[in-house]
Amino acid sequence: MLTDYHLHLRIDDVGSAADAFTEENVDRYLAAAEEQGIAELGVSEHVYRFADALELWDHPYWRDQATDDLGAYCEFVGTTSLRLGLEADYIRGAEDRIEGLLGAYDFDYVVGSVHFLGERGAVDDRRYDVWESFPDADSLWSAYFELQAELVRSGLFDIVSHPDLIKIWGDDRPAPERDPRFHYEPLAEALAESDTAVEVSTAGLRKPVGEIYPSEALAEMCKEAGAEFALSSDAHSPDQVGFGYEQAMEFLERLGIERICVFERRARRLEPLGRTGVEANEVTDSGEAAG
Ligand SMILES: [Zn+2]
Ligand SMILES: [Zn+2]
Repeated sequence: MLTDYHLHLRIDDVGSAADAFTEENVDRYLAAAEEQGIAELGVSEHVYRFADALELWDHPYWRDQATDDLGAYCEFVGTTSLRLGLEADYIRGAEDRIEGLLGAYDFDYVVGSVHFLGERGAVDDRRYDVWESFPDADSLWSAYFELQAELVRSGLFDIVSHPDLIKIWGDDRPAPERDPRFHYEPLAEALAESDTAVEVSTAGLRKPVGEIYPSEALAEMCKEAGAEFALSSDAHSPDQVGFGYEQAMEFLERLGIERICVFERRARRLEPLGRTGVEANEVTDSGEAAG
């Protein structure tokens, strides 16, 4: 089986819920998935899209974005064949409020993310660039992976998303001087004591870094820690569904990972990795089915 759980129907910064949450839009995603033999599709809209998120964190970016109704989103997704997910930011100190919000709806899974290192700034948004508030790459990478470890230890999330998002800018930002594995260690340790799955995300292939999240070295450490893996593209449009999945499948095979996580009502099972109903040679390297 293949999954694509980390999907956004809503386009960043533009558009409206009325445009995004329609049967027609969902059908475009489902058609793209079917062409590529992706059997399990779920949507995980950003928590900060919803007015409820302002109970978790009050930040200017969130205040701008928090317009949608979380209950209406859940209800809409319930009328489709998509799994119901949410991409929820881990906010240090807001654990009880996050738990309350997540418990109020029947999610199939919750993807936990670190985009902001608190008030110090964002990892993936130049408007709030976190690099300006750290003296060097090593101190930033340490702080980032420590927060990822806290996310995992919180037990609030089913999946830790884009596990090394900090590398997003690639060569545009300094690399840490230390071996990256030193920075990965707290996350691997947290995973060893947790059931949180690790997301293999092809989104990194579309970003300046041009690599899958996580790096192969980090994925190896996660595997050694006993973690299971979930597969997603973090698509923000139908043409990004299953993007780069040939590479992702090779990546997983190289690591000896033969099964991936499937979620239903926040329970997880493992299914063998592979396309459904499509021969491998019908799919091109870009992840798009030929013909
Ligand atoms: Zn994200
Ligand atoms: Zn996302």
